[in-house]
Amino acid sequence: MTLRWRLTLSFVLVVLVPLLVGLVVVGRALPQAAQSQQKAGVISASRLVGTVLQDYCDRAKAAAEAAGRAATTTGPAGARAAAVSLVSRGLADGIRVTGPTGTVVAGTGTLPAQPEDCGGDPSTGASGPWLTAVVPLMTTAGAPAGSAVATFDVSGVLLRRLHQAVGTGEVVLVGTTGKVVAATRTFAPELVRDSFSDPPGTTSYGYVSAFVPPARSQAYGAVVLQRTAEGPALLVDAGAVIALSILIAIAIAVISARATTKPLEELGDAAARIASGDLSTVIVVKSRDEVGRLATAFNTMTDELRGYVGQLEASRDELQAGLARLGDTLSSTHDLDRILHVVLESAMASTRASGGMVLLLTPSRDELVLAVSAGLDVPLDLRLKVGEGVSGQVALSGDPVRGRVGDGPGELRPASGEPGNHSLIAVPLKSSGKVIGVLDLYDCSLPEGFDDNDLATIRTFASQATVAVDNVLLHEEAQRLSITDGLTGLWNYRYFTMTVAKEIERAARFHRPLALLMLDLDHFKAVNDSFGHQRGDAVLVELAARIRGEVRDVDTVARYGGEEIVIVLPETDQSGAAQLVERICEAIRRKPFGEPGEPPVRVTVSGGVAVFPTHGLVASALLARADEALYVAKRSGRDTWRVSTSTSAAVQLPD
Ligand code: GH3
Ligand code: MG
Ligand code: MG
Repeated sequence: MTLRWRLTLSFVLVVLVPLLVGLVVVGRALPQAAQSQQKAGVISASRLVGTVLQDYCDRAKAAAEAAGRAATTTGPAGARAAAVSLVSRGLADGIRVTGPTGTVVAGTGTLPAQPEDCGGDPSTGASGPWLTAVVPLMTTAGAPAGSAVATFDVSGVLLRRLHQAVGTGEVVLVGTTGKVVAATRTFAPELVRDSFSDPPGTTSYGYVSAFVPPARSQAYGAVVLQRTAEGPALLVDAGAVIALSILIAIAIAVISARATTKPLEELGDAAARIASGDLSTVIVVKSRDEVGRLATAFNTMTDELRGYVGQLEASRDELQAGLARLGDTLSSTHDLDRILHVVLESAMASTRASGGMVLLLTPSRDELVLAVSAGLDVPLDLRLKVGEGVSGQVALSGDPVRGRVGDGPGELRPASGEPGNHSLIAVPLKSSGKVIGVLDLYDCSLPEGFDDNDLATIRTFASQATVAVDNVLLHEEAQRLSITDGLTGLWNYRYFTMTVAKEIERAARFHRPLALLMLDLDHFKAVNDSFGHQRGDAVLVELAARIRGEVRDVDTVARYGGEEIVIVLPETDQSGAAQLVERICEAIRRKPFGEPGEPPVRVTVSGGVAVFPTHGLVASALLARADEALYVAKRSGRDTWRVSTSTSAAVQLPD
């Protein structure tokens, strides 16, 4: 059952129960009240009838006295005139004056044969019954002088007057013997007879009756009767009113229940929409009542929810973007600097850190060097010994730390150059169980600083970073191996060909000199033969070191073949190349090869020089010219060098 129907039912019951109780009370009390009221009415009507009868008796007496007085004072003629006047004015229906002897002196209208003072008389003919007054007349001397009689016809005006006096009731007049003499309506004789004996107000035969008996001064008794039909009619009216009230109550209940539940239904619909994910739902607040306040609270809640969801979505997007960037970077680049930047930024974003840095261990594993930093004021050349400061301790122990950096009790002591006075979380970057660096994050926007969740997150980042750094280092090593010579550490032939082409192009574009130097150990086969191949290798390693000691950083020294070395010399002309080759020859020649305790090996080297663009415009030509010059040097007795004597085909270089 819905709330609306429950409310409707409650409203209806609230109205209906008192109404029904009222109906029962009224249904019981109303007939009794109506009955007693009717009874009182009938009794008072019967009294009124008695009074009216008495009144008519008095009127008749007054009319008789007036006629008698006229007879004694003005004689028969005066009496007649007075009688006619009185009857015509309605003061009597008939008047007769008789003399002392019984002779009629004056008379008018119809009269009973044997009149009786204030008495009634049943009709004897067409007229009557009567209500009569008889007044004896006296002479002035006091002798009887006849009588005056005045009368009313009871069934005429008097009966109508009585009917008017009792209103809705009926009147039955009875004589002294109990015989009905006149009635406003015909009733069964037993009803009238019972009314004589019943106390006034008794109900029988469907009538309420009251009886006024004839008295000495009153000619007739009277029965007043009234139908007892009003009670049930009132009940029907009350029932109709109640039925109408119930209908109105139901209508009001339905309307008010609808008015009460409609805002709740709207709230429910809105809640359902919000629950299904539509956070744009706004409830229109139509009132300031409880429902209105609920709607306002609902809107506030939805607003807050929208805010939270917005923030969540933003941070989710940020996280997704960060992860995507991290993933892309880690998988697609071997740029260590960029990888470390992205790892640091992602770690900072996920822990709301304001700054951070990554330090990497040097190959000697005794020092940490700053690789990247963000949001911190740290020296770019920051270096920390392992064990020094917070980062050094983490590198030493291999365990993460979390806390506050400062010089207070229980705080982590920073090394010089390390940020102080910050919340810190520092985790080691470990590869195969070996620390390769440290990731430090400083300050968190939350007042309580970093928590265990942050530590867990950062450890994840650290392991990702380690994998990425490992990959980069591996890649760098692989790359290094692919372009370096495994024995001497010099660039290999592959790297040489790439470099020489680039350098020639650069020299051509900027009209700069460039020289190519080719070296070959003299009688090296003999070294191998005399000291063994292994010793020969060692000589090659030392040769590379001695040559490296003579050249500039920008020069490219490559192992061209077995014991042949080629050197690209940017920004070097023929005389510069000649100086260098002489220096190299001297450096080889000066001191025998070999570690202390080993038999010394004396070697020399021969060299050939070719210069761009004098001896060639492309690498192959320059190589061939240098090789030729080397061959000339060999033939000239070795331990010397030559510059190519050939010239390149004339070529006009572009400006
Ligand atoms: P020269 O150049 O003065 O004419 O005489 P040479 O004995 O050096 O002759 P050549 O340059 O033709 O010989 C190259 C020798 O260098 C052959 C080989 O025994 C030696 N050699 C080449 N590569 C290596 C290497 O990687 N290790 C060792 N130990 N010897 C090598
Ligand atoms: Mg050789
Ligand atoms: Mg040789």
